[in-house]
Amino acid sequence: MRIVDLRSDTVTLPTPEMREAMYRAEVGDDVYGEDPTVNRLEELAAERLGKDAALFVCSGTMGNLVSVLTHCGRGDEAIMGDLAHTFLFEAGGVSALGGVHTRTVRNLPDGSMDPAEIQAAIRPDNVHYPRSRLLCLENTHNRCGGAPLSPEQTASMCTVARDNDLSVHLDGARIFNAAVALEIAPKELTKDVDSVMFCLSKGLSAPIGSMICGSAEFIHEARRNRKIVGGGMRQAGIIAAAGIVALEQMVDRLEEDHANAHLLATGLAELPGIEIEPEDIRTDIVLFGLSPEVMPADQFQQKLNEAGIKILAIGDQSFRAVTHYGIKKEDIALALSKVKWLLGG
Ligand SMILES: *Cc1c(COP(=O)(O)O)cnc(C)c1O
Repeated sequence: MRIVDLRSDTVTLPTPEMREAMYRAEVGDDVYGEDPTVNRLEELAAERLGKDAALFVCSGTMGNLVSVLTHCGRGDEAIMGDLAHTFLFEAGGVSALGGVHTRTVRNLPDGSMDPAEIQAAIRPDNVHYPRSRLLCLENTHNRCGGAPLSPEQTASMCTVARDNDLSVHLDGARIFNAAVALEIAPKELTKDVDSVMFCLSKGLSAPIGSMICGSAEFIHEARRNRKIVGGGMRQAGIIAAAGIVALEQMVDRLEEDHANAHLLATGLAELPGIEIEPEDIRTDIVLFGLSPEVMPADQFQQKLNEAGIKILAIGDQSFRAVTHYGIKKEDIALALSKVKWLLGG
């Protein structure tokens, strides 16, 4: 049976070109700055995102953690969306390891936050309050269905931060999906932020790794914080080699994932009991609801799974399906036919 795994774009397997590049990678000790392949990946990433420097880290979670540790001291406050990945899904790392206090502002359905609400969350200088130090944005926004933030939305949120002497970190795990969906260069989406993290191991299909990009000074400090969390790797060029292939060969094809996500969304919208607005689906993440009268969420997920279609139940009769390099147009047709069969019988 063909398995169609739509749980996440993290299930992507490395391409043959990545395997080849990994095999051939020239390596050295990266903690000494001597791995030429890591150095090349860091230069390439910085250049693509319009920053001075970059740092290779083990995961997106580590990238966000190291970035927040670099921006904030203990007791400082980081403002972020109430649906931010860093707030919901990173095990509270910024608090657990950094002593950083998080303050949430409501995420709007488009992944942004109201600049006036950000302004209202910023603390005045008062001995009772933590210091507001950092604003964290997310693009595309995972929990908001892969919504891409435009440069204008980004700028209006960053302006509030700037006016109040806060730094801005962008969780750009899927920033290339945003750039492809908006048909602009990724650096247009990062020009107003101080630091950005993006993942090589999601839609870009590399096996391991994420990048932090920022000023040379910021990355110098981040390198120390990466060491603190145990993320200093040695002959990391073996995995960085796949990251270079990811940036050079896997960005433009994200369009195919977005087209497949759109196909899935329009197909789902025609089925009874499914709640989805296909025009809200703009990148690779498809969120949809299922009416409780039709079937409880856990049963729907389990039956689909048994039929070879894997999706994630994300609570409250809601589901997530993500398209990626391992998913072809025929897989979408297959997934839709199985959902239809399940709802029909
Ligand atoms: C996946 C993800 C991360 C974390 O990346 P990992 O490599 O899984 O640790 C961070 N932010 C967002 C928005 C993500 O989707």
